[in-house]
Amino acid sequence: MKEPFLAAVPVLKKLESAGFEAYFVGGSVRDFLLNKEINDVDIATSATPEEVKRIFSKTVDIGIEHGTVLVLYQNQSYEITTFRSEAEYEDYRRPKEVSFIRNLIEDLQRRDFTMNAIAMDKDGSLIDPFNGQISIDNQIIQTVGKAADRFQEDALRMMRAVRFLSQLSFTIEKETLNALKDLVHLLSNIAVERKQTEFDKLLSGVNRKQALELILQTNIYSYLPGLSNQEDRIKLMLKYKLERLTTREMWALLVYCLKIEKKAVEGFLRGWRIPLKEIREIQVILHYLDKRFKTSWSLYDLYTATKEIFVSSEILYLVIKGIENNNSIQHFLQMYEQLPIKDRSEMDVSGNDLMDWFNKSGGPWVKELLFKVEQAILEGNVVNNKKNIKEWLMECNHN
Ligand code: ATP
Ligand code: MG
Repeated sequence: MKEPFLAAVPVLKKLESAGFEAYFVGGSVRDFLLNKEINDVDIATSATPEEVKRIFSKTVDIGIEHGTVLVLYQNQSYEITTFRSEAEYEDYRRPKEVSFIRNLIEDLQRRDFTMNAIAMDKDGSLIDPFNGQISIDNQIIQTVGKAADRFQEDALRMMRAVRFLSQLSFTIEKETLNALKDLVHLLSNIAVERKQTEFDKLLSGVNRKQALELILQTNIYSYLPGLSNQEDRIKLMLKYKLERLTTREMWALLVYCLKIEKKAVEGFLRGWRIPLKEIREIQVILHYLDKRFKTSWSLYDLYTATKEIFVSSEILYLVIKGIENNNSIQHFLQMYEQLPIKDRSEMDVSGNDLMDWFNKSGGPWVKELLFKVEQAILEGNVVNNKKNIKEWLMECNHN
């Protein structure tokens, strides 16, 4: 075994010494077997949430109705979920109520894909009743049990199949893929938030291009916010080299390819329940991308865009233009590093200074003059220190 499991072994031991079973489960075991970086270590246990809360001193209720308690242990946090079965599904969604059970195998049976239904105990022994290891060895995404049944229980699993294809570059097993094609319409019952989580991961996967192709082929796109009837425009995206793009850049490129009007961008992204902060970032990236098509970066634009944003806009520009092996990013980064200030807060003058120097009370003129000083600093007309700024202002009589 290796980290981060080793650090979590005492958590399993604590549950066991209280008389319960406990195992590592889910994505962490899968990623461990794949020799991939392990994100969160999830734990499944026969203890009920109340029992888990009695055993650990620091816990947070994050999903008690689904049996999940967050346990803080030695500066790490672990999601501990009670073994459960999901016998009754409603409306093709995961069930509102779950029943807690004491049996690991039943818990593994309700999991989506065989590769995600492997448990590992504290000694590193695997419990793999659905041959998840074989699926992993053969790089196959296959449902636990009959695919059609599992997708009817929870239609989101169809999107999860494609997002795993994106992240792992596996293939979807034939029966699983056929069921997906047949039942794709059930995705209309699924909450946007859940779709968004999967789509976001899909966009960030290494195999994102194939995943997007499959989203088109299987008609999944028709059930995604703002994408129905957009087959041709989504196809535009597949022309580009997508490998280097971050998730945020992928969203920006999607908006670009969909040719969404500037004022409709926010509505489209809100439709996906993307947080407003990210929406604003995507809008700014698109704003500078638009500008980039017309002209190169000015010092002022580099400064106002900020480093993260201009790098994203420039990368998108290069991708859309099909420009490779170009050192323009390096060039603009150098320009950026040489800016005398990177942010307004670095200006060595304040509104109070101006009011003091000109012996005038506040008003719109303060903001205007600060803006003039900012420009002058950026253009190298005045050095950014109080004395020089004051002299410059007095000389030019900028009052
Ligand atoms: P990631 O590395 O992206 O977190 P993951 O496999 O851990 O991947 P999660 O969404 O964190 O995915 O889910 C954890 C585990 O819970 C899965 O591995 C799977 O066993 C189970 N699971 C999650 N969603 C479903 C679902 N809709 N239906 C059945 N089982 C699910
Ligand atoms: Mg996970």
